[in-house]
Amino acid sequence: MRSLTFDEVFAMLSAVRLSAADLARLREWIASIMHPAECIALIEQAAAGRPCPHCGCARRHRCGQASGLQRFRCPGCRHTYNALTGTPLARLRKKECWLPYLQCVLESRTVRDAARVVNVHRTTSFRWRHRFVPGAMRDRPQILSAIVEADETYRLESQKGSRKLTRRARKRGCVAARRGINKEHDCLLVARDRNGNTLDFHAGRGQVTAAQLHGCLRPVLPADVLLISDGAAAYRRFAADAGITHEAVNVRAGVRARGAIHIQNVNGWHSRFKSWLVRFRGVASRYLINYSGWQRILDARRLATPAHLLCAAAQSG
Ligand SMILES: [Zn+2]
Repeated sequence: MRSLTFDEVFAMLSAVRLSAADLARLREWIASIMHPAECIALIEQAAAGRPCPHCGCARRHRCGQASGLQRFRCPGCRHTYNALTGTPLARLRKKECWLPYLQCVLESRTVRDAARVVNVHRTTSFRWRHRFVPGAMRDRPQILSAIVEADETYRLESQKGSRKLTRRARKRGCVAARRGINKEHDCLLVARDRNGNTLDFHAGRGQVTAAQLHGCLRPVLPADVLLISDGAAAYRRFAADAGITHEAVNVRAGVRARGAIHIQNVNGWHSRFKSWLVRFRGVASRYLINYSGWQRILDARRLATPAHLLCAAAQSG
């Protein structure tokens, strides 16, 4: 029997109704056969025209190759550099696995799962996650506009993965010693405008304060926005100090919305974040912002392919 041509296979494939699982398999397969040179080309492309990361000098001389990347020498400071110097991806190895790994990031795979799919060690998978994700997370809106909803969610502080605990270990896993929100809780503040632009902040421990709101929100809110929050006094104080128009919904009293005055978009984001986070079985406080940033990237769907993620992560900080 003669073997099928690609056109015939493609025609058959196009005729099949693909399930989400089928699509995931296809994506995984395509990622796995992507050419390693593609990754290098994307990295070089992302860094095109970037000045010396050491001194900012725009002039440079070619100076050989290393790890597949062109090396440059700066005539100003004499240092050498390549397209990844000064980015979170500097000195990471196995570039041929990066695009398949980033596909795993898009599919929200756990460290173990991604390690298995890409065939790297678990510690490599962990290291990559905490380089690629913070890199890509820098793709975030500079400011929010018009109507901005803000609300916090709290997560019990976690020292998962730490060798030395700075407190006594919790019995029975994840139960707080005291009731209510207190210094045992990390505060994740999320602000979202009605165009879907979203910003996340790890505001600190305990109930959010006006000072924390000032630090997080003031730089990203123009003077003419309408800020909507729940009834917490910190928002009222912050808005008054910052001269920003503010409306509160009394969620505690069971009021969900007054016309367009509601925080349902930001609350929707929080609930998607919480259910997405379950698969990771608890995340360390120091990585909380990485996970919320990761969810923000997935939720915004702006960086929808491994190549997009790679280009965002390969930007200098
Ligand atoms: Zn230089």
